[in-house]
Order: sequence, then C-alpha cells, then structure tokens
Amino acid sequence: MLAHELRAKVARGELSPLEVAQVYLERVRALDPSLGAFLTLNERLLEEARALDPTLPLAGLPVAVKDNIVTKGLRTTAGSRLLEAFVPPYEATAVERLRRLGALVLGKTNLDEFGMGSSTEHSAFFPTKNPFDPSRVPGGSSGGSAAAVAADLAPMALGSDTGGSVRQPASFCGVYGLKPTYGRVSRFGLIAYASSLDQIGPMARSVRDLALLMDAMAGPDPQDATSLDLPPRFQEALEEPLPSLRLGLVRQGLSGNSPGVEAALEAALGVFQGLGFSVKEVSWPSLPLALNAYYILAPAEASSNLARYDGTLYGYRAPGEELWAVVEATRARFGLEVKRRILVGTFVLSSGYYEAYYGRAQAFRRRLRAEARALFQEVDLLLLPTAPHPAFPLGARPDPLAMYREDLYTVGANLAGLPALSFPAGFEEGLPVGLQLLAPWGQDELLLRAALAFEEATDRGFVRTPLGEAF
Ligand code: GLN
Repeated sequence: MLAHELRAKVARGELSPLEVAQVYLERVRALDPSLGAFLTLNERLLEEARALDPTLPLAGLPVAVKDNIVTKGLRTTAGSRLLEAFVPPYEATAVERLRRLGALVLGKTNLDEFGMGSSTEHSAFFPTKNPFDPSRVPGGSSGGSAAAVAADLAPMALGSDTGGSVRQPASFCGVYGLKPTYGRVSRFGLIAYASSLDQIGPMARSVRDLALLMDAMAGPDPQDATSLDLPPRFQEALEEPLPSLRLGLVRQGLSGNSPGVEAALEAALGVFQGLGFSVKEVSWPSLPLALNAYYILAPAEASSNLARYDGTLYGYRAPGEELWAVVEATRARFGLEVKRRILVGTFVLSSGYYEAYYGRAQAFRRRLRAEARALFQEVDLLLLPTAPHPAFPLGARPDPLAMYREDLYTVGANLAGLPALSFPAGFEEGLPVGLQLLAPWGQDELLLRAALAFEEATDRGFVRTPLGEAF
C-alpha cells in the first residue's frame, strides 16, 4: 500500500498507528539483515505509536530518515566513524515538522559517508544491497532510503541531494525522488556536505506520497537563512488540471546511455505526447561540463564544512594529550573518499590555485544557471535520464573518477538550484530505469503534476515491489 492509502486507512480507523508501526518493524527485522538499508532503528517506535493522537494528518506513517539528518535522541552517524556514537540533542526542522503531524521515524538509513558517493559503498559500516538484485548497488548516497522504500521496509523516506543523491538511488531502486528547489526545504539539522548545493528531498513509491511529504516539511524556517518563503501547495496542485506543456529533451553531448535508458526515454516521450505535451530537442550547452565544476565546488565546500570534526566539540575523539596529535588521530578516521574530497577541496581553495579552479568553477556555475534560465523561456520542463544506466554491480567502480561520472545527469540541477524529480520509467533486464524532469526555479509543484500525469497514464508508473508489500 502507498503512504497516502495507508493514511486514508488510519484516518478511517481501519488500522491503528500501532498496527502500522508493528508491521513495518517486523518487516525491517525480517528483511533488512540481507539488505542493509538501516543503520539504526528507532527503539521507541512502538511507544511513540501508542502515544500518538490518531487524528493527526500523518498519524502513524513511518518514515525512514537518511542518517545525515539529525534526529533528537536517536543516533545519527552520517555513515561515518567520526559520528559513530553521536546522539543529537536537537531535531532537524524537516523531521520535526513530520513528527508534529504524526509521522513516526522508523529508523536511520545507510549512506555514503557524509553523502560522498553514488553507490552507498562508501558507508563506513556496510554497503546496502539493491532489492531488485542483491549483487548490485542501490545507488547513492541515499541508497539506504531508496532500498527501504523499494523493499517497502518503509512507505516513504527522506534523502538528501547535493549532486544527485536522492534522484540517482531513486532511479536505481525504481522509486520517485525529488530534489527540491534550493531552499524549499530547510537544511537545519542536515549534516553539511556542500552547503550551497545540499537539499533534503522526499522518496516514495508514488507522486502523491512525495506531495504529502513536501507539504509537511517545506516552507520557510527561521533556523535556515537560505530557506525560501514559498509556502508548499503540492497536494492542492495535484488536483488542478494540467495545461499542455512544452517539454524540452536534453541530449547534446550526453551520449553513452544504455539501451534500456534510451528505450525508456523514447517511450516516455510517447506518453507525454499522448498527454498533449509538445516535445522538442533543446541544447543546454554547458551541461556536459557540469561534472567538472561540481567536483571542484562540492569538495571545496566539504573541506570547509568537515573542518569541524576535530574531536573537540562532538563526535569521536582520539585518545591523547597533545592537541595536534589528537586532531590528527581523530581525523585519520575519515574514510578514503572523504579524505580525498578534503584534499581536493583544500587544494582548489589554496592561494595560487583559487582563481584557476574555484573561481573558474564559480563563473561556470553562473553560466550554467543563465543558460537554464534562457532554456525555460522556450520550454516548461526538461527531460533527461537520471543516470546513464541501471544499477551496477557492487564493487564495479573502484576508480573514483568512474564513480564521479555516475553523476553526469544530476549535478546540473544542484549547480543551478533548480528542482528535479526522478520517476520510474521502465526496466532493463529486470532492473529499474529512472528518468528525470527539471522545472524552473520554484516550480517544484509543476514537476509533480507532470509526473502524476505520467504515473496515471502508465497505470501506477513503473513501480514494482520486488520483496512484496507490508500492507
Ligand atoms: N555522488 C555525488 C557526490 O559524491 C553526489 C552526492 C550527493 O548528492 N550527496 O558528491
């Protein structure tokens, strides 16, 4: 059952929040040992379900929360040994808003350390498996959340997306994932990776469920100065008739897609045309270079954000007396990929190299953004793949640059600050294929309206639950 269907059953009194919580908890206990989607379960879940007011709008709906989003009193590791035992004294705004409406935090999901990766293999603890094929990755960095939703270990989840971490795992696991416009969801309580790119985003098995999460958590927050004063109206927008939209297909400079991705793209174009959309090929000239700029800007911001893990304030502290020795031994606990990002970031910000790397990447970012603005004069939405291929086997990307190339299609939306949604659009040899829609700044609702039209035109989209459903 989808989250909004479950909500209706609870509202009618046919299911109690406690029954819902019990079923999901048992399911996680039975199935997660072989998937590895969760790092921590909420031990107070049943107690919280019992105490809940069943008339709240999201009463009893379990949410799986990526473990770089802080939860008060519930261990939050960011997938790192540095925060292995960190129990936050405060709650992220997104989580607080969901809880206030009656949602229950089921547990915390696995991720690449601090969100750095595209497969969840960079988790300091264990890799997560793809529910469609346990020899393959679920994508990353929100791989635990994507796998949990695909396996219906939770009806919905939160991820975070700095360069594709909600959308790429959503596409690998055959679920929906939204990277909102930068600032639509408060970042308060999201453990910072690259602050100018980071956004919390919803993941679920239907568009209506994304809408439900967005209405609950989006909107201005005095705790986040970059949050936007744009009140969410997602569920309401889904009830409005869709005008015929102009869809721009982005292809130039982006070859090398697998046959299944190409086929899904062709088929989706047909579906959108059938819905009355007009389609034309457009060019976003700088997009093929977005990856280069991203892998300068994101590490630069990360090197600064991660300076705080020095063993003095919170998190792991290596034993010792001498300050620098303690700092060094503490930071030695970062994983290899995180150390690589810190080194790259420090390099591109250092005197003598700043203008050549960081400065140029910033200028490129402005150009990419201006090109997107011009494109949206011509079309209402952009369509492109989420990833060049379906889920790859565990261990198949030992070369860091090969892993970075996974993000070719996703980083553009982050650099431009635009909303982008990945939706299930087909299969290739039994593995899900996702496609991506991008909308103009602030028009997140429009993305969901178009995706809902696709979902309804294709009979629940291409969502499958390979391990069955909880309800
Ligand atoms: N794979 C990208 C990276 O490693 C994006 C990760 C993310 O969005 N958090 O930086």
